[in-house]
Amino acid sequence: MSVKGKVVVITGASSGIGAATAKKLADHGARLFVGARHAQPLQDLVTTVQAAGGTIASQPVDVTQETSVKAFITAAHAHYGRLDVVYNNAGIMPNSPLSEGRVADWEAAFQVNVMGVLYGIAAALPIMKRQGFGQFIATDSNAGHVINPNAAVYAGTKFALRAIMDALRQEEGPHMIRSTMISPGNVTTNLWQSVGNTGLQQAVRQREAAIGLRPEDVANAVLYAIDQPEDVGIDEILLRPTVQQN
Ligand code: NDP
Repeated sequence: MSVKGKVVVITGASSGIGAATAKKLADHGARLFVGARHAQPLQDLVTTVQAAGGTIASQPVDVTQETSVKAFITAAHAHYGRLDVVYNNAGIMPNSPLSEGRVADWEAAFQVNVMGVLYGIAAALPIMKRQGFGQFIATDSNAGHVINPNAAVYAGTKFALRAIMDALRQEEGPHMIRSTMISPGNVTTNLWQSVGNTGLQQAVRQREAAIGLRPEDVANAVLYAIDQPEDVGIDEILLRPTVQQN
């Protein structure tokens, strides 16, 4: 089965990579169920996709709350009667030097970027195992491969995510459940807004505006990973702006 007709659930769909991916997949005939905390941008996305003839529904979700994620996944499954892809994409990047001791930011980063993905797996894996098929996708990062100053905790979350997604691949691949990481370098989105340190926030914003990939470039990678034959697992796609060194 190609992407056409597949039921795809996306978190972090109110903005950036998640919103662009929802539009791209809907254009290719997928049936979308999208979530994030803010209801209005989700509703705007639903209106846009439906106006273009796509199939989409939404429900607000806070990925830091296990009950919220479980309700979201359950609603998606009830709405369409199957789950082909769960794309755990929501993320934040509250970068700062460790010396600033922003413990609350560190906790939030792990809660959204790691626990949020694990809650998605906990809610959807039993459904996929009953079905006998499914695919998990997570947005990792080049920061899951390289470490830079000020990104210690963010990189830590993305390294952790890579360990989880690869273990998921090894455990569930034999049961025909695929696990895919999409790992972009700089992308021009709203992610800079989650950077805690004001000076760094502007530096990230300027760098992403200057060299960042378009969110649609990342959406193309997601589309490719979904659109392969079921016995072809795309473990990871690492994509960067050509001019980005690490
Ligand atoms: P955006 O800030 O544009 O989008 C982030 C999305 O995550 C928003 O839809 C936001 O929605 C959602 N989100 C944040 N916190 C929560 C939460 N607690 N519960 C539910 N949703 C939440 O950034 P991107 O599109 O860039 O980020 C998407 C992913 O891509 C992240 O995992 C990020 O780490 C990763 N990434 C981004 C790169 C970049 O350069 N931009 C590079 C590499 C990876 P809302 O606020 O409405 O909840």
